[in-house]
Amino acid sequence: MALGRKPKLLIADEPIANMTTISQLQILRLIASFNKNSHTTVLYICNDITQVGNLLNRINVVYAGSIIESNSTVQILSRPHHPYTISMIEIVASYLNQSKKTKFKFLPGDSPELGKLPIGCPLGPRCPFADRECNHTPPIIKYKGGTVACHFPQNMENSNND
Ligand code: SF4
Repeated sequence: MALGRKPKLLIADEPIANMTTISQLQILRLIASFNKNSHTTVLYICNDITQVGNLLNRINVVYAGSIIESNSTVQILSRPHHPYTISMIEIVASYLNQSKKTKFKFLPGDSPELGKLPIGCPLGPRCPFADRECNHTPPIIKYKGGTVACHFPQNMENSNND
């Protein structure tokens, strides 16, 4: 129904949640074809960024209401820098490959309520790299066409700062 009028912008918020695998694939294919053939811009919102990675041009990772990392899909999935992004990707990888062991797998605790954000970095109480500097708002660092909001971004070797 949402695609019937060929919108210029489609906001798809968890469009394939609670569907069978076949239905998921059909919906994803339909969205992808509208994006390609009708030039509909798709803002796709989901909790699993590996689920639809090959359909997306760009990923914005949101934590506690803010974009904490943004870049092309290829860059985010192959070389994430923010501890939260790394954790999200590695949780899925470890689920698919039980033998893979990393220290990121499961961040302790839950996302904070928006009205009760911790001082400084919102990931601070859950982050394995948190240090005193993280009590201050993280800087937004630019690199290779993207940004990461973190005092201590990971895997930055060979990632040119812009
Ligand atoms: S700013 Fe500090 S607490 Fe926040 S994600 Fe980066 S290292 Fe972790």
